[in-house]
Amino acid sequence: MITRRRAFLQENIMIVASDRLEQASEVSRPSWQHQLSHAIRDPRVLCQYLGLDDTWLEGARTGHALFEVRVPEAYFKRMAHNAPDDPLLRQVLPLGDEILAPAGYVADPLEEADHRPVRGLIHKYAGRVLLIASPTCAVNCRYCFRRHFPYSENSPSRAQWQEALDYLRDDPGIHEAILSGGDPLAASDRQLAWLAGELERIPHLKRLRIHTRLPVVIPDRVDSDLLAWLGNTRLQKVMVLHINHANEIDQAVVDACARLKAVGVTLLNQSVLLRGVNDDVTTLAVLSERLFEAGVLPYYLHVLDPVQGAAHFDVPDEEARTLVTRLRDHLPGFLMPRLVREIPGEASKTPL
Ligand SMILES: *Cc1c(COP(=O)(O)O)cnc(C)c1O
Ligand code: SF4
Repeated sequence: MITRRRAFLQENIMIVASDRLEQASEVSRPSWQHQLSHAIRDPRVLCQYLGLDDTWLEGARTGHALFEVRVPEAYFKRMAHNAPDDPLLRQVLPLGDEILAPAGYVADPLEEADHRPVRGLIHKYAGRVLLIASPTCAVNCRYCFRRHFPYSENSPSRAQWQEALDYLRDDPGIHEAILSGGDPLAASDRQLAWLAGELERIPHLKRLRIHTRLPVVIPDRVDSDLLAWLGNTRLQKVMVLHINHANEIDQAVVDACARLKAVGVTLLNQSVLLRGVNDDVTTLAVLSERLFEAGVLPYYLHVLDPVQGAAHFDVPDEEARTLVTRLRDHLPGFLMPRLVREIPGEASKTPL
């Protein structure tokens, strides 16, 4: 009896102690803004921290000169040490190959420059409009189709936002505003709350969609300030995360997803099919399962857009189709992402 009681007490003391520890670590953990501005931005630091030798550093410097390294620590911590093939590292480590420019790989593969009626706004598809809400990202993904995007010409000030808002007000056929970037959640909550407030006053707008990788790479971004404006808008809320590999989903990401769901956000995920990261059936099946455990439904699996510097990530269409056909043998229908490509001039993403 006494031993049982002692064990019980001890266990509870330990729970209390670990609660305190957790609270303490939450208090002492830097804000998301601090984490964002202190992301790793030096190829040498990235290679050193991960124990990669100088052969990697040389390539990393070449790629870095074309599109700078940026990796927040919270994301970096999920990578294996001394493992150049780590699927998270592959997404962010520049390689010398980025300097190659094979035929067909261009700076603006989606020809978005043709679809900007006003600054900071892209209108390509019926009923929905994409707003460039922030010029920067928390992480620089090497395969990004916007790696050459002229953000400086496309991040409107508040006065310039009025032009974009007028465009939305004047077209009753628009039902959905999609905040994109860069990463829209790199903007401050003050700015975003203002924008959401303006948007919700447009009567024909029904939905607010946010395309972001921030809750994945810095889960602390999902804080009370974000949840306050997001939870309060009358618009229906959809968040499309961007996760390519199950290793990206640690407990902090699961918790961030739970906080978003608690304020009524529908969570979806888009991935890019990437050579050396997720180009096999098991990896994709595990990703879908893990996403669902975090309360997220797979939405799109994009084939690579032919952007200059990313050719080494390419998976040919035939192989992509075969992969997805085999994936269907492993997953329930609702965990199957739609394999798509974006073709300039088409009215929607095109199924493969
Ligand atoms: C992908 C995309 C959308 C959204 O397309 P959905 O098929 O609705 O997810 C909207 N506008 C642009 C410019 C896009 O690239
Ligand atoms: S987070 Fe998205 S927009 Fe930013 S670099 Fe990565 S893929 Fe590109």
